[in-house]
Amino acid sequence: MPKFNENFFDLKESYLFSEIAHRVNAYSEKNPNKKIIRLGIGDVTLPLGSKVISQLHEGIDALASAETFKGYGPEQGYDFLRLAIVDYYSRNNISINPCEVFVSDGAKSDTGNITDIFGRDNIVLIPDPVYPVYVDTNIMSGRNIIYIDANEENNFLPMPDDNVHSDIIYICSPNNPTGATYNRDQLKNWIDYALENNAIILYDSAYECFITDETLPRSIYAIEGAKKCAIEFCSLSKTAGFTGVRCGYTIIPEDLTFLSSSGIKISVNAMWNRRQTTKFNGVSYIVQKGAAAVFSPEGMAQCKSNIKYYQENAKIILNGLLKKNISCFGGVNSPYIWFKCPNNMDSWDFFDYLLDNAQIVGTPGAGFGKNGQKFFRITSFGTRDSTIEAMKRIDELI
Ligand SMILES: *Cc1c(COP(=O)(O)O)cnc(C)c1O
Repeated sequence: MPKFNENFFDLKESYLFSEIAHRVNAYSEKNPNKKIIRLGIGDVTLPLGSKVISQLHEGIDALASAETFKGYGPEQGYDFLRLAIVDYYSRNNISINPCEVFVSDGAKSDTGNITDIFGRDNIVLIPDPVYPVYVDTNIMSGRNIIYIDANEENNFLPMPDDNVHSDIIYICSPNNPTGATYNRDQLKNWIDYALENNAIILYDSAYECFITDETLPRSIYAIEGAKKCAIEFCSLSKTAGFTGVRCGYTIIPEDLTFLSSSGIKISVNAMWNRRQTTKFNGVSYIVQKGAAAVFSPEGMAQCKSNIKYYQENAKIILNGLLKKNISCFGGVNSPYIWFKCPNNMDSWDFFDYLLDNAQIVGTPGAGFGKNGQKFFRITSFGTRDSTIEAMKRIDELI
């Protein structure tokens, strides 16, 4: 009989989005005439820009003739895309090498798969509330997790505790679900802590393109010392609306080295390369053509215009909630508005209240961790009209 990975039994039932769907379906069956506005799931809604579309088409056409046909590509991504990413960083005054860039099918896979290169005996530091992938993938591999509280007191930006040692640190900034974003000094603190503890930071910058405040870092490598202690995960999902197309990239600096238990110098870049070449055969040529177009001036302008649309929505939501004296986080450098449920309500109770009385679907904070119990997430990824309508309903209700 096979022995299974029974760490899976330690996972909490992931019922967040299925429970939401269940409650929404039950409501709409009972109230077929009510128009429900969905501002729950973190998925984009605007179509891809024309530059990306034309390059995706070019990618397909290349496969139609023998001269330009592509079979397996490099597991790490085509040079044209790795160079486009390097160039994107250089525009933010960050210098990385093409061999430090690994193209993938998205940041969810990479933030999950990275656990492959770490031994079981690591102390893993994860903020709460957080994107559930970090927690669940570490539970699957049986690691010890220390949670650090992100709460109102620290503006949902927890700082390192010098008295607590850890080996692996997850940071997501701008954050999902809270929208909170670390400034340069705060990130420097985390880098100093990591260097002091010989720890590694796994930095998820999936929402960097939503940063409007020019003083905030869009990459951890904007801070000195990061190349010695941090891996950065990024994605075209929110930057370019690639949630369905699938493409992301992970940066592993060549300077990122540690000593093995027997004292041999380990290159994290080489380990990840070994992992990827073993288990991954690369992103399709078509998708990479489209992805490279994102970084062209025209492609980037089109992405920015979509992001601006969502940012306007975020402003509408934020202003509507602030008008009601609701305590809000995010919404400025992030597509998410994270707010305290009115009247000290629990997040699932508020979910029902909002659905029953205003037909609005959001995401209960409890689904992201215990510190989300009294909080709620609304996304700016809806249409302008539905966002305005939702805020009108909230204005009348609360
Ligand atoms: C949306 C999101 C991602 C992107 O995941 P993909 O697999 O690239 O679509 C990564 N991290 C966080 C925190 C996210 O919310």
